[in-house]
Amino acid sequence: MTLGKLKWLIAGIAIALAVVLALSITLICTKHSHRFVECHYNDEVHFLVCPDDEVKNSEGEAHNLVWAYNEEYHWHKCSYKSGEAACQWNDEATNYQAHNFDENGVCECGYQKS
Ligand SMILES: [Zn+2]
Ligand SMILES: [Zn+2]
Ligand SMILES: [Zn+2]
Repeated sequence: MTLGKLKWLIAGIAIALAVVLALSITLICTKHSHRFVECHYNDEVHFLVCPDDEVKNSEGEAHNLVWAYNEEYHWHKCSYKSGEAACQWNDEATNYQAHNFDENGVCECGYQKS
């Protein structure tokens, strides 16, 4: 084999590799569209995550605080929901407080004395 032929061979292989690489990158990019179906959260914010590649849809939004309660105590939880994904954040562990009834026997959380 002459040096000239070898050069062409190497160039051919390089081009073939580049084409394969470009094709596979295009394939990966077009094949996957994120499914933001999992809601993850920390103490301040929640965000949706694609379970296939752990990509977030945003840096997070503040929790949407609503009251949660049982017969004796109340605390906050987040009411955020997007399709099947719901934020599970609550402050039950840190802000679990007894009801504070007014003269009508109603607490600010909405719970009514029975
Ligand atoms: Zn994804
Ligand atoms: Zn939340
Ligand atoms: Zn209450």
